[in-house]
Amino acid sequence: MPSVYIGQAVKMGIKNKPIIRPCPQCGRNYQYRRASGRTFELCEYCRNLDCVVCGKKVPPERGRKNTCCAECEKLKIHNIQNAHYAKRIAENPEINICNHAKARENRKADPERMREHLEAQRERHYRRMQDPTYQAIRKTYQANRWKNKKYEIQAQRREFWDSLSDIEKAERLERNQAIQRKHKAKKREQLKLDPQKWAEYQEYQRTKQREHRQRKALNELMTGTKELLNVTNKDK
Ligand SMILES: [Zn+2]
Ligand SMILES: [Zn+2]
Repeated sequence: MPSVYIGQAVKMGIKNKPIIRPCPQCGRNYQYRRASGRTFELCEYCRNLDCVVCGKKVPPERGRKNTCCAECEKLKIHNIQNAHYAKRIAENPEINICNHAKARENRKADPERMREHLEAQRERHYRRMQDPTYQAIRKTYQANRWKNKKYEIQAQRREFWDSLSDIEKAERLERNQAIQRKHKAKKREQLKLDPQKWAEYQEYQRTKQREHRQRKALNELMTGTKELLNVTNKDK
């Protein structure tokens, strides 16, 4: 039937006149009816999703995103990661201990990896030591650790020291002495600023030196006696 055909063609060809009207929700002017004939009860803005973080409307220029701004997006990712982490910890509270142990084993098996790791740790340490807050936290942590694990730590140090060669021992001693000298010099400079403390320090040093001299004299006396005894023993 030709009439039906013509009718459809006519209907498809007709362009609807777009209608602009204020949004009933926010009052913004928007296209209520498009040329295609499609109508929208609310404006583009009000039709959009609510931000999943703060609940405000997501602006249309953010496309299909479900957050209203970059900060909310960042927070959303942070929340997701936090929730994921909390879930993993709940499933296996020792997961970090296990992963660290595994990584440590892998490093031990691969010298190159170990070298990279130590390098990264060293850099991280120097970077963090610039931060006074970190320094304070570290100080309390180490004081507590020393209090609780003193003997364990001392045993570990002894074991490490025994594992070194004589050359390594000498190198370390020299390096440590240089550090100590520097540290003491710095401390002396600080003490000099306070006359009373400086006087106390000098008095303390004098006492120490006197004790040292007495000990030395006693030792010499002891060795002298021992030698004398040896001689007399041989004579018998
Ligand atoms: Zn609106
Ligand atoms: Zn938001």
